[in-house]
Amino acid sequence: MVRVTTTDRRTALRTGVALVAAGALTADCTPHGAAAPPTPSTHPAPAAHPAPATQLPAPVPRRFPAQPVQLTHGPRTRPRVALTFHGQGDPGIARSLLGEAERAGAHVTVLAVGTWLDDHPDMARRVLDGGHDLGNHTLHHLDINGMSEADAQAEITGCADRLRRLTGSIGTWFRPSRAIRASPLVERLANRAGYPHVLSYDLDSLDHTSPGAAAVTRQVLGEIRNGSVVSLHFGFPDTVAALPAVLEELDRRGLRAVTTTELLS
Ligand SMILES: [Zn+2]
Repeated sequence: MVRVTTTDRRTALRTGVALVAAGALTADCTPHGAAAPPTPSTHPAPAAHPAPATQLPAPVPRRFPAQPVQLTHGPRTRPRVALTFHGQGDPGIARSLLGEAERAGAHVTVLAVGTWLDDHPDMARRVLDGGHDLGNHTLHHLDINGMSEADAQAEITGCADRLRRLTGSIGTWFRPSRAIRASPLVERLANRAGYPHVLSYDLDSLDHTSPGAAAVTRQVLGEIRNGSVVSLHFGFPDTVAALPAVLEELDRRGLRAVTTTELLS
């Protein structure tokens, strides 16, 4: 694998800090996080973005019969882990994180927020072109478990529609917003929208609390083991600064960072 240099890390850190100074932080995924509540979307209805005819449609969701509907981790018997990202925030940070992963030969899973795709439609293809999984993280990233059935359904299908327009697929995974697990209603709505599984996680990196890169690295490397599904976020500079050291240590331990699809296949 290609080792990431100290210069790369400094560059990544600088980029992240500049973006934070510009107020580019995102909301966290957890129900009790400190991030500001999201503002109502003022996004107009997106224009149609059909997948260009030269590009194959993106992978569609798969059912893994041996797995529960709500997935928190993969098999404990194989040295593989899945790094999964809340897909929102400044695309500069997103590109830095994807680049760091690819330099280390890692593949990740990106759960994209629908309005983020409206603002940065090129990011959908960027994720797929890197060999990563792309999934649905609702349209507005609100407290989906607390919504009415109609509103929760609109949050799921709204993001699915955008993914379909941009890539030809609704994405391979659904993760609820502002909740670790989906409520029974949200689980049912996700199934109805075409997602056989809900992707939860068993390791919270806590990067959304901005504890410093060293703390993010310690948290992930202290808990990670075979089959772990790690929750991380685009939009936070600590994650950019921590990722090279995390990937280097995973490589040293023989733990491969793979897409969630590969983790379960
Ligand atoms: Zn989230």
